[in-house]
Amino acid sequence: MKLLEDRILADGNVLSPAILKVDSFINHQVDPVFMHELGAEIARHFRGQGINKVMTIESSGIAPAVFVAMELQVPLVILKKQSSAILKTDVIQTEVVSFTKEISYQLTLARKYLSENDHVLLVDDFLANGEAATGAIRLIRKAHATIAGIGILIEKSFQPGRTKLNEQGIHVYSLARIAEMDTDHITFLPEEA
Ligand code: 5GP
Repeated sequence: MKLLEDRILADGNVLSPAILKVDSFINHQVDPVFMHELGAEIARHFRGQGINKVMTIESSGIAPAVFVAMELQVPLVILKKQSSAILKTDVIQTEVVSFTKEISYQLTLARKYLSENDHVLLVDDFLANGEAATGAIRLIRKAHATIAGIGILIEKSFQPGRTKLNEQGIHVYSLARIAEMDTDHITFLPEEA
């Protein structure tokens, strides 16, 4: 999506060979009008597939996922990374290794928000090694729900996330796919249909 590629070039900062900072418009300060456009495009791609829930992982997936869910007119379920005293019983959990923080956490979902009747679209801001998405898929499967696919804002295609997910038969749609990046240039793969 050219709109997102242009914004990454204008406002993104490559912090290291593998980390892109986009906190002026996606995950620290949020540009809601822009995020709505991105969410609408992900919703357009997956519309008509019987999706009845959008799911994301706190916290940086929430902004785009709200707009995808609004466009599809379905609830948004937010998987928790932080442990909480009020989310201890009747939960489904799986361990995930964080790409940016280099720690692992228990991805947690209250059982009542996902069942075998649900067909889920997972939405996240970044796809890197695919650990967060793979953890979310494990939870979806534990709940006997089904997965329609994954909508991503920024895929770092030089990392193995997409391949891992495709190997599990999961359809990934990414609005911007970074082929390579360093501090003074970012190149993109061609847009997906
Ligand atoms: P993965 O599990 O695919 O390795 O990493 C995905 C998660 O790590 C995303 O939910 C995102 O929050 C974070 N992440 C991965 N790469 C980047 C990056 O280059 N920049 C930022 N800001 N977050 C990233």
